[in-house]
Order: sequence, then structure tokens, then C-alpha cells
Amino acid sequence: MLQLENITKTYTKENQTIRALNSVTLNVSEGEFVVVSGASGCGKTTLLLTVGALLKPTSGKIKINSADIYEMTSEKRSVFRANNIGFVFQQYHLIPYLTILENVKIPMLAGKSNISDNDVIELIDSLGLKDRLHHTPAELSAGEKQRTALARALLFNPKILLADEITGNLDPENIEIVMTRLADFKNSGGTILLVTHDKEVSKKADRVIYLERGEILNI
Ligand code: ADP
Repeated sequence: MLQLENITKTYTKENQTIRALNSVTLNVSEGEFVVVSGASGCGKTTLLLTVGALLKPTSGKIKINSADIYEMTSEKRSVFRANNIGFVFQQYHLIPYLTILENVKIPMLAGKSNISDNDVIELIDSLGLKDRLHHTPAELSAGEKQRTALARALLFNPKILLADEITGNLDPENIEIVMTRLADFKNSGGTILLVTHDKEVSKKADRVIYLERGEILNI
């Protein structure tokens, strides 16, 4: 369902060119859980951002269910992203003055949706956050913020979930809650690309790919 063909991404800063991804080719099947691992700076976040339709590669093609996501107009790409892709950022990106319930509902502001408040509360409950509905992010632990961001990413039941280090710095109990929810998502046909260094988390993946200086290691 996901195909990366020869993806190269370079950043230019102060006359210096950094090749964050170098000719990356990757195929991921529907319902597959893939962990992306590798040292800091090897290109993991860049890879997720390009797959997430948030960062156009310098060259190469990315197809999700046969749709070439960077051939679309930016308006079409936004709609495609909303309908197909869930993204959990490492820094959560929660709005500080909104409650947890309101934060999870943010994607609904962009257009019509037939999701009821009860559906949203059920989703939040499935991540163990029901008694935090009316709290603001500042009142939550790191694990709770991470789970809120995951709930928001799952709101529209995306085809593919992209998650950047969401299990980093979490205690085993929080990791267990997150992994159980990811297993449910996968069992219902969802595809997952998860960046992590956690060996226990990696054991649960169908496949682990390692990046080194922007290239996939063949091991
Ligand atoms: P990782 O997630 O594995 O730590 P990144 O994808 O964040 O790696 O970064 C890959 C490389 O690209 C690093 O050398 C990083 O410094 C560089 N990089 C990332 N984002 C930018 C940017 N916006 N501008 C310039 N260089 C960047």
C-alpha cells in the first residue's frame, strides 16, 4: 500500500547541502507494522515527514494506495492526508489552551465529519484517558500527552499511521497501552510506520528497517 521509489531529500543551509535521505526504496504492505530505527540524524524523521505528505522529497516518488502524493495539488494532498494518514509527532503538538477532548477533535474542525462526541470519548477511553477529558496538556504526564496525540491521529481511522518516537521516554505501563492500541489498529487492517529505538517495541513489529546516513541498511 506504500511505495517509496528512489527517495532523496536534501536540505540546504548556509551553502551546505545535507543529504538526509539517499535513494530510499521501500515497499510496505497493507496491515504491516514496520519499525524504522537508526542513529540520531540518519533521516528517520525526514522519512516519516515525506511519507506523511508533509515534506516533498527532492527526487523520487511516494505512492499510497497507488496515489502519487506529490503529483497532487497541495489542496488535494491536504484532503488526501486527512483521509488517509495519521501522524504522531515526537513533540505531541497539542494546543495548550484546549482540553484533551478538544485537542483530539481538532481534525474535525477542517470539515464535515460524522464522528459523534461519544465516538471521540470512546477512542480517548481506549487509550486510558477518560478521566483526563477536561484537563489541559500542561496537567498531563508525557505519556498522557503522547496518548492524546495518538488518539488525535487515529480519529479518522487512517489507512496508515506514522509515529515518531512515541514510545521514547515512556514507562512500561504507557508503552503497553500504546502498543495494545497499535495492535488493534493493525488488526483492523491499518499500516504502521513507527520510529523507535526500543528493542521490546521492535520485537512486536513485522519488520525493522535500519537507516544509516539516509540509506536503508541491508541486513
Ligand atoms: P533523525 O530523525 O534520524 O534524527 P532527521 O531526519 O531529523 O534524522 O535528520 C537527518 C539529517 O538532516 C540530519 O543531518 C539533520 O541535521 C538534517 N536536517 C533535518 N531537518 C533539517 C532542516 N530542516 N534543515 C537542514 N537540515 C536538516
